[in-house]
Amino acid sequence: MAKKHVFSFYEGDGKNKMLLGGKGANLCEMTQIGLNIPSGFVISTEACLKYLANQNAELPISLKKEIALQLEELEKQTGKTFGGAENPLLVSVRSGSAMSMPGMMDTILNLGLNETTIIGLIKRTENPRFAWDAYRRFVQLFGKVALCVPDEKFDEVFNEIKTRVGATEDIDLTVEEMKETTLRFLKVVQENTGKPFPSDPREQLEIAILAVFRSWDGKRAHDYRREFHITKAMANGTAVNIVTMVFGNMGDDSATGVGFTRDPGTGTNEMYGEYLINAQGEDVVAGIRTPKSVKEMAKEMPEIYRQLVELRNKLESHYHEVQDYEYTVEKGVLYCLQTRNGKMNTVAQVRTSVEMAKEGLITRKQAILRINPEGLTQLLSPQLDKNQTGEAIATGLSASPGASSGQIVFDADEAERWRDLGKKVILVREETKPEDIHGFFASVGILTARGGKTSHAAVTAREKGKPCVSGAGDIHVDVRAKTATVGKYVLREGDTITIDGGTGKVYLGELPVIPPEFSDELKTLLSWADTFATLKVRANADTPESAKKAREYGATGIGLVRTERMFNDTDRLPIMVDMIVSDTAKERMHSLRKLSAMQREDFRKIFLTMAPLPVTVRLLDPPLHEFLPGELDLLDKIRECDEETPEIEKYRKLLSAVRMLRETNPMLGHRGVRLGLTNPEIYKMQLRAILEAAADCEEEGTTIIPEIMIPQVISAQEIRPMLVFAKEIAKEIEVRRNITVRFSFGTMMETVRACLRADKLAETAEFFSFGTNDLTQATFSFSREDAENKFLPFYNEHEILLDNPFEILDVNGVGKLMRMAIEDGRKTRPELKVGICGEHGGEPRSIAFCHSIGLTYVSCSPLRIPIARLAAAHAALNSKKTK
Ligand code: PEP
Ligand code: MG
Repeated sequence: MAKKHVFSFYEGDGKNKMLLGGKGANLCEMTQIGLNIPSGFVISTEACLKYLANQNAELPISLKKEIALQLEELEKQTGKTFGGAENPLLVSVRSGSAMSMPGMMDTILNLGLNETTIIGLIKRTENPRFAWDAYRRFVQLFGKVALCVPDEKFDEVFNEIKTRVGATEDIDLTVEEMKETTLRFLKVVQENTGKPFPSDPREQLEIAILAVFRSWDGKRAHDYRREFHITKAMANGTAVNIVTMVFGNMGDDSATGVGFTRDPGTGTNEMYGEYLINAQGEDVVAGIRTPKSVKEMAKEMPEIYRQLVELRNKLESHYHEVQDYEYTVEKGVLYCLQTRNGKMNTVAQVRTSVEMAKEGLITRKQAILRINPEGLTQLLSPQLDKNQTGEAIATGLSASPGASSGQIVFDADEAERWRDLGKKVILVREETKPEDIHGFFASVGILTARGGKTSHAAVTAREKGKPCVSGAGDIHVDVRAKTATVGKYVLREGDTITIDGGTGKVYLGELPVIPPEFSDELKTLLSWADTFATLKVRANADTPESAKKAREYGATGIGLVRTERMFNDTDRLPIMVDMIVSDTAKERMHSLRKLSAMQREDFRKIFLTMAPLPVTVRLLDPPLHEFLPGELDLLDKIRECDEETPEIEKYRKLLSAVRMLRETNPMLGHRGVRLGLTNPEIYKMQLRAILEAAADCEEEGTTIIPEIMIPQVISAQEIRPMLVFAKEIAKEIEVRRNITVRFSFGTMMETVRACLRADKLAETAEFFSFGTNDLTQATFSFSREDAENKFLPFYNEHEILLDNPFEILDVNGVGKLMRMAIEDGRKTRPELKVGICGEHGGEPRSIAFCHSIGLTYVSCSPLRIPIARLAAAHAALNSKKTK
């Protein structure tokens, strides 16, 4: 028997989204749990893929037969006839793949209308105006989507008629004028396609199905899938949903609307959405008419509002997830047309997670797993400073929160071009259209004059965490002239504005922004995450201030203090330089003592800020010439100097030091422990600063056991003398100050040889910390800067490498070395602590890998700590699932 490709809503498996698409599966599920859904059927994604693969011009015969049978069934269920003159069956044809791609593919409404069925529709509804309006919409949508007639061709005719009769809204047109519009639209199609508009409903249906199939391969859909990393494993092909039409434009007891079960911008648990009385679905989502808030419905249509609240409650309690739903009210009866998991910004995701878990709708584990850790970056994005005094020039709807400033552009392609030139742009449009999607991705914010909070732009902006103000009706956008006029102001392309998507306000110029504060819900969620995570999360922090930030964000210690950064302050760099260019050992010791005192105070403050949490301090890592000025700069300075000036000697001395320290390949040169061994006085100075600081804390009543870490190690022979130095200095301090000084001793793992010699290193080292920035360079033999600037994009494009290994840990290469090093190291020292302090320590996929190979902690920049805490919990929960 041939494989089944078409399923009625009563028979489709509501869980099989890959086969039926998200929309189709949900329509089946909702039908089967007894919600009021218009009857219909789904053509599977498999049918779509088969069609695209074979590049057929027509639908296969077997598929046509299945569709015919389902149509018969639909006629029975509805008591209507497809193509009938008495009580005609009209349907919508909607796309829907496994992953929802709002507005990315096309929908056709009112299919089945022709010169015969229009008469039936008029008779049945006794509403000729409505019937002609439905026909007009059908001809336009079908013409645009299925026959590729440009939308403007219809707009021109429509505007001409509206202007002639003095109508401002569609609703102002009389029956005759609607009829005239429809007939003119039919002509537009004939003129543009060279063929009459197809009048047989079965032919219309076939053409529409083919158009939906093909839309899977359209530019919009491709762009969307690329941007959101939707792979074939996540969604492959689109299903086609054929649904009996219900009408929201049958008078004032009819309406159409969209809603979210909770506010997708803030997460607040309340009715949220928009509706239009006497209108059809696309009017709300396409942003053509600015709709009313659902809260008004409570007064305007109280009985429908009651039913809507009931629907919303049923949807959430069934799906255990915030839903984004569409509905139509036809003559006082509420129908749900679709539902899907609501796309929300992270603020809303976090709040709804915590609240739904507290309401018992989901478990804490589900609350955590619902949130993409990387999404938390949105919560760390700037907000408008509350004390700013900018005057708002316009106000629209708060469609997606967050504040951003940028230069105005009026066109999506232009937005991409400007972004590529390194500019920050805000895309300003009259109304939002799905075709603009690539422009949203390129912009730092979106501003529209028309359209509601549930328009495609608003939905997509929220998902991307981009600020968006929509429906700012006072702004008049003239795309051709590239101007936006608001009151006395005329804004031109390139002018800077600031938008605040949290309040809907638009300001001239760039306004100050501040970092957002952690919400109570985020704190709660992360505290739940910590109970599931086994990996600890530490911070890379070099100053008492960043240590404080790290603690605020929930770090369980510092995994890396890069001590060289402490030498870069303006009051310290000259001392460092003096130390490097000193002529005698005495001079050098003098400078080192000064530096040691400064570092000691820094360490003391960091230790006290973090106590009782651990702090890992790494000894000097870069080569010395990094602290000196560049050779060319010095030559310029010498050239500019008068022979007599005393400065010239200083520059000459510096120049000779620069030339002496110059290396062919500095990153592989005289740095890290190599420098510590050949110039032991530098490391000794640092060891003394760390241990004296620990002793200072002890005297103040706080016991600190600093973790001392050696960089760039390749052999146990390198670290043994360092441990001896540390022990000697500690002993000397203990005797002199009559105080106990303890420390722990470990090594960075950032060379390939260190990984290969891990068993030996673990004899001396009590802990390892993978420096995956250097380890990645070393494993690939790539220099990071050259790779990222020159050939990595090519490698990614041609799938030689799938990711940037400097951002996402290369599990197959670098990861293999890490796994081996941990195993070998723990053979020697079973209790060996192992962390990671390269950039990968804050990246969710890399964190999952670190969890899987048994690391003790990850360490990352303070701002990424919330992301890492959540990712560590995900790693633990997901690995339990797969076990
Ligand atoms: C590393 O190499 O991963 C590391 C943390 O050291 P740095 O980035 O300072 O070289
Ligand atoms: Mg390094």
